[in-house]
Amino acid sequence: MTVTPIKQKYDIKDISLASMGQQRIDWAAREMPVLRQITERFAQEKPFAGLRLIACCHVTTETANLAIALKAGGADAILIASNPLSTQDDVAACLVANYGIPVFAIKGEDNDTYHRHVQIALDHKPNIIIDDGCDVVATLVKERKHQLSDIIGTTEETTTGIVRLQAMLKDGVLSFPAINVNDAETKHFFDNRYGTGQSTLDGIIRATNVLLAGKTVVVAGYGWCGKGVAMRARGLGSNVIVTEINPVRAIEAAMDGFRVMPMSEAASQGDVFVTVTGNMHVIRAEHFEMMKDGAMVCNSGHFDIEIDLKSLGAKATEVKDVRNFTQQYSLPNGKSIVVLGEGRLVNLAAAEGHPSAVMDMSFANQALGCEYLVKNKGQLAPGIYSIPTELDQDIAALKLKAMGISIDSLTAEQINYINSWTSGT
Ligand code: NAD
Ligand code: SAH
Repeated sequence: MTVTPIKQKYDIKDISLASMGQQRIDWAAREMPVLRQITERFAQEKPFAGLRLIACCHVTTETANLAIALKAGGADAILIASNPLSTQDDVAACLVANYGIPVFAIKGEDNDTYHRHVQIALDHKPNIIIDDGCDVVATLVKERKHQLSDIIGTTEETTTGIVRLQAMLKDGVLSFPAINVNDAETKHFFDNRYGTGQSTLDGIIRATNVLLAGKTVVVAGYGWCGKGVAMRARGLGSNVIVTEINPVRAIEAAMDGFRVMPMSEAASQGDVFVTVTGNMHVIRAEHFEMMKDGAMVCNSGHFDIEIDLKSLGAKATEVKDVRNFTQQYSLPNGKSIVVLGEGRLVNLAAAEGHPSAVMDMSFANQALGCEYLVKNKGQLAPGIYSIPTELDQDIAALKLKAMGISIDSLTAEQINYINSWTSGT
């Protein structure tokens, strides 16, 4: 006799954490007025009725509010983690217990469990995928070609995911439309810069309780995230060094008043290192050798590959946990290197990720991006699409209103002036 396995309904740490999760989700909602308005409209209009949706995001209080919006819009939605260390277990419990949203995510899950959850999500046979880092879409394209015809489209949250989608497009394997949420101005201007800026330092401080005033902080990468981290580290009184590979960004960092040099020079000067490049092995064996005793290294960019932890582990004579999310690697040269959050995103591993007020705009883009895909079902050729400028502007206008800020509007005379070419000096 063959036994049909019972399909797992959810995979979370502890359902009894739900009431704590509810309190924290409600707290986050107070700072998410734009998403709240979208949720109210979705509840009336049900744009996702009859559609299966999977969201692969960090399972946080902010993502919970997005999931609630999607469900209010009629989606048959499930949620999995986009990172093994970022799940807030009380949030996962609350979504399952109080909202009936299946969640497959446990803080600290191993890589096998993480990938098993991706497979379970794909078993849901999604029509829409919200991805953060492109792991679900990449798995679908590699392993589930028979499901491609179900897909209306995907929305991608982060820079790294867009880089992977662009590579898929180049290789001719992207067979559906993908909405580039990261490129919306109301996303990366605020989320990548102010969100990563604040929450990365929050993660470093919660993990170590280090005083940042007077320390030398080395920021690798001066993109949107790097600008935020450098700006906030300076605000706390750190001396900031920036490393870059892009000459324009390097000039920008120099003109913003930071010291710019290669990692091979910065390695011996830094007390705290933060990688935010989206690239691999930005800090590697040769750099660890040069670092000061007790130097702290962490990543707020791309998965756990920006810091070459394998080579550090191979060199180390001892690795020990010294605090939560803080491990000390002893080296044969007698010095030690402290690694935060296992080299994964320190802001989500050791702190709570970006504050709700910025995720409000990022997830408004996600919600409206999904609706846009449904409204344009069958009309968008395979490719990567920006969020329409009108939606971006609408989100900014709603946010501004919620912040109690009003701004000027163009006069008829000004409109006339900026649309004409005849009046000059
Ligand atoms: P970006 O493209 O704006 O910036 C990345 C910068 O890193 C670029 O200026 C690039 O020239 C530089 N760079 C690349 N390789 C380098 C190297 N070897 N050394 C030094 N600099 C190098 O990207 P972004 O929006 O700033 O995002 C950076 C990473 O952070 C991405 O992986 C993104 O997915 C991730 N991200 C994380 C969070 C978070 O919550 N922690 C938030 C947003 C984005
Ligand atoms: N998934 C990969 C790629 C980076 S994730 C990884 O985990 O390594 C970076 C994204 O996390 C950002 O684009 C940001 O929008 C998102 N993020 C940051 N704080 C968050 C929060 N509080 N809740 C949900 N997502 C968050």
